[in-house]
Amino acid sequence: MKQVRIAFTFIAALAASGTFAQGKRDFDAEARAAVQSAKTAAGFEFLGTLVRVCLLPQSGGEDASDVVPPYIADPAKAPARDTWYAESAKVFDNLYFVGGKIHSSWALTTKDGIILIDTIYPYNSEELIVGGMKKLGLDPKNIKYLLVSHAHGDHIGGAAMIQSRYHPRVVMGGPDWDTVEKHPNRYKTTAPKRDIVATDGMKITLGGETVTVWLTPGHTPGTMSYTFAVLDRGKRLNVAYSGGTAFNFVNNTPDPGIKNFQTYIDSQKRMAGHAAGATVLLSNHSEFDNAVNKNRMLAGRGDGPHPYDIGSDWVQRYFQVMQGCARAAQIKLEQKVVEARN
Ligand SMILES: [Zn+2]
Repeated sequence: MKQVRIAFTFIAALAASGTFAQGKRDFDAEARAAVQSAKTAAGFEFLGTLVRVCLLPQSGGEDASDVVPPYIADPAKAPARDTWYAESAKVFDNLYFVGGKIHSSWALTTKDGIILIDTIYPYNSEELIVGGMKKLGLDPKNIKYLLVSHAHGDHIGGAAMIQSRYHPRVVMGGPDWDTVEKHPNRYKTTAPKRDIVATDGMKITLGGETVTVWLTPGHTPGTMSYTFAVLDRGKRLNVAYSGGTAFNFVNNTPDPGIKNFQTYIDSQKRMAGHAAGATVLLSNHSEFDNAVNKNRMLAGRGDGPHPYDIGSDWVQRYFQVMQGCARAAQIKLEQKVVEARN
């Protein structure tokens, strides 16, 4: 009986995809439908994310090289300050934005110290994070935990500086700790010393507040996302934090591209489940959660709604955007497999 049901489900899936009904799949129509689902989910709220994963060309895969980034080899090559500088801001009673125009860093305060999430670049972490915290009355010496969502230069850049100066415990996904250790030149001056290896569902608790770490492999093999709570004028709101977005994995050949996209899609599905009940969506890129614009809106909020409190439906839609765009790209690789056979 069970086998019959499985067979039936399989045939139904084939029929739905067009394989059974027409003898061959209409890949273009399938990919268009996946992109359309992402566009519909994105609305005006998540245009930055939609553009990044559905419309802009993706890199061909992981960077296997080990070269010193130009902005480390020669600090004069760092992008001009006006391309990244943004004002730090108190966003919730206990959450502070200390990032820049494109990349974010967040400080979650508790009665026993600070949990810092992501550290942007080596050339701007000093001014944006350390300087930004001080401007808001926060003492960086109170950073007790540092969570690095993944080991890319735009999030790990200030990690070594913060670890050596303020001695927080540093949390990162196991495969990303490995990446850092394998590439001493790429992470020259930015690599923190190996500390806590994240596990799925790990709870980082400090001063009565908890950040739950979720492993969401895809963007990198060790990418972490989070759920935690913040206070808005005393009211508790649940936050989902997305730790990796673009298709930064081998994605231009069916093998291993199809599998890699599936890993990414599965992570977004799982994260959407963990985000059930969250009404705030945060990202480590301010271009994806509109942090800089929202901070501006927040300044003029008055008695109005909190601009980050977008409701659980919108939070769920964020993860649908990522899934729809990944599925569209995955379909194109499935098409390559079929065409190679014919
Ligand atoms: Zn990245």
